[in-house]
Amino acid sequence: MSSRAWPPSSKARERPVDPLKLKALSMGLSKELKVVLIKMDSAGRQTFNISELEEPRIPMSELSIVNTAAEVVRACRGERVKGKFKESYLLPSFCVKPKIAINIPIPREKLNPPTPSIYLESKRDAFSPVLLQFCTDSKNAVTVIRGLAGSLRLNLGLFSTKSLVEANSDHAVEVRTQVQQPADENWNLNGSAQTWPCESSRSHTTIAKYAQYQASSFQESLEEEKESENEEEEEEDKTSDTLATTKIIKFGTNIDLSDPKRWKPQLQELLKLPAFMRVESSNNMLSLVGHTILGMNSVQLYMKVPGSRTPGHQENNNFCSVNINIGPGDCEWFAVHEHYWDAINKFCDKHGVDYLTGSWWPVLEDLYSSNIPVYRFIQRPGDLVWINAGTVHWVQAVGWCNNIAWNVGPLNAYQYQLALERFEWNEVKKVKSIVPMIHVSWNVARTLKITDKDTYKMIKHCLMQSMKHIQILRDQLVAAGKKIFYQSRVKDEPAYYCNECDVEVFNLLLVTSENSTKKTYVVHCEDCARAKSSSLAGVVVLEQYRMDELMKIYDSFMLVSITCKRKRK
Ligand SMILES: [Zn+2]
Repeated sequence: MSSRAWPPSSKARERPVDPLKLKALSMGLSKELKVVLIKMDSAGRQTFNISELEEPRIPMSELSIVNTAAEVVRACRGERVKGKFKESYLLPSFCVKPKIAINIPIPREKLNPPTPSIYLESKRDAFSPVLLQFCTDSKNAVTVIRGLAGSLRLNLGLFSTKSLVEANSDHAVEVRTQVQQPADENWNLNGSAQTWPCESSRSHTTIAKYAQYQASSFQESLEEEKESENEEEEEEDKTSDTLATTKIIKFGTNIDLSDPKRWKPQLQELLKLPAFMRVESSNNMLSLVGHTILGMNSVQLYMKVPGSRTPGHQENNNFCSVNINIGPGDCEWFAVHEHYWDAINKFCDKHGVDYLTGSWWPVLEDLYSSNIPVYRFIQRPGDLVWINAGTVHWVQAVGWCNNIAWNVGPLNAYQYQLALERFEWNEVKKVKSIVPMIHVSWNVARTLKITDKDTYKMIKHCLMQSMKHIQILRDQLVAAGKKIFYQSRVKDEPAYYCNECDVEVFNLLLVTSENSTKKTYVVHCEDCARAKSSSLAGVVVLEQYRMDELMKIYDSFMLVSITCKRKRK
């Protein structure tokens, strides 16, 4: 057992220490527990022993979120689970996804539905709660807010190539080298058929160098236009030949604008956005991570020439995303509701490209013939695209332009369910969940007041599962004679992931020292640690939260009625 500070709070210190209560607490039982004392005679000396608990133990299978943390912990202790706790964090048979019929064929013309678009009449409309409701409505896969930058008087010039070069010319740019193609086509290498995979090679440059490329690419196209006009006058057939040659282009991507010192005016300008769209806000799960996740809770910039492609994907852990086109050119977007992600996943499988980690560009005909509606629209300079939770999307630049983008996690039941579903799917596929959902869920419980019943139920259930997981593992480790060292978390400490399988490791860290001289420590999950040594030889167990700390957070996390929330303010 780890050493426990006693008394745990100043309030408790006022009362005399009761050794039995102390014992009960050290067992992970709460104050409300009543113990029955039985007088015992052992070796002629009278002692008291805790014999039975007055409160009956609830079987683990009957636990639900109505139970207290103490009841949950007691149930786990009594069960003496052998092997790993493998239950899901998701509330079984509880789903807030919209009901979309899959077996009813959609007429061809409805497979190209109009994209939900919003035209703001005034600046005030941007801050109306109706806009948040519309964007996060689970039925709306994507929303385009036309001319938002204009309505809010955002100075997008701060993100123009000229301004970026002036601000930080040496800043790193990741480059994707791609073949320019029409937006609705993706040809295989020998150009004989359309296909899904669209690999591109990666290299690096600077903002100044990419800016030069972007400008000269624009200049060239102006000259080509002039030339082709002249050619048309001379000989009309020749133009078709020049179009058929493959053109190689470079896409400047994932440019990190997270540093507030380097990008102060740019980041400040984005504070003019409505709260729910901002990089940081109170109801945003990504603001509760406690550290920077590049490109998610920080801004990324994209510098494009025509044909620059962002292949198909859902955002990390199905979070929402915000994208503003800086211009001067347009972008073309394709989007499919989350409901169809697995159908697209199967197309990727069929074409031998990994859905989660590979690069693919859907063949539109394949989607239509599978009865999948595709939103297709143009994002003009100043338009903001809101990608709702789980929406599959792919984007191509029509003209020369820059875009800025980041993720947000509005705390609603739909977003939370999808994030947790992807968290578990990632574990199956051994892909890292960029958002540490267990860590975030505990932070939500500690800091936010939840007024939506469905959201509350899901989070509370996830916390209960997390607590069960920890208690069972803890008891197994102690029973196996492992010592558990308490090491409280420090400010800005990141969430932990298993070194081998990338699963999030919460609270109980199984640590090995990889290099005894260099003092580098590596975190493992239970499975991977046991795979190395079933007895966990050489593994040190660190505990980041005391069980009663988690129990207290769990019990204090309650559904707050809206009137109650107002009173608190
Ligand atoms: Zn692992």
